[in-house]
Amino acid sequence: MTFDEMGIKDNLLRGIYNYGFEKPSAIQQRAVVPIIQGRDVIAQAQSGTGKTSMIALTVCQTVDTQSREVQALILSPTRELATQTEKTILALGNFINIQAHACIGGKSVGEDIRKLENGVHVVSGTPGRVCDMIKRRTLRTRAIKILILDESDEMLSRGFKDQIYDVYRYLPPELQVVLISATLPNEILEITSKFMTDPVRILV
Ligand code: AMP
Repeated sequence: MTFDEMGIKDNLLRGIYNYGFEKPSAIQQRAVVPIIQGRDVIAQAQSGTGKTSMIALTVCQTVDTQSREVQALILSPTRELATQTEKTILALGNFINIQAHACIGGKSVGEDIRKLENGVHVVSGTPGRVCDMIKRRTLRTRAIKILILDESDEMLSRGFKDQIYDVYRYLPPELQVVLISATLPNEILEITSKFMTDPVRILV
């Protein structure tokens, strides 16, 4: 399958080709269509497979850029990964005027507040800071349609389990969930059974 055949909006396709991508990677081949169709997806994939770009392009396809509310939330285990995801979203979404913000520890809370109050479509962050921003009511969750849990096994081994469950409790009930993990231990399967409905399973 080509990017053209995936039902992606024109200005996003332009961003993808302009970034230099020609063909979808294996994970993109299998995960993009179910995600943009609204399915819950469990993807067992390592880094370097094109998963960050897969997240970026599905999030860009999902959000309505006419609205200024946060519609997509991505949780990552590290500040570096959360920032990399934010950058990839901004790059691929260049022609759809997407606004994304990285909510990560170690950066000023004031900056988060300013960016979020200006209105962003997507938040990419680490569980601790995102949870904090939600509890301060700086990050409004009512319009969030999709939650992406990236490197989920790594988030759990860094002790973020409680924060992930905490964040989930604030999200709307009609939520699409995408979970990416290199391994699928029991604690991950517990998350998939609590958060997801009839998920599509992909192994790459
Ligand atoms: P990612 O896992 O998305 O960070 O991708 C790993 C590397 O592969 C990055 O350098 C990406 O820019 C690159 N990449 C991702 N998807 C594609 C694609 N469809 N075509 C070419 N390069 C890609």
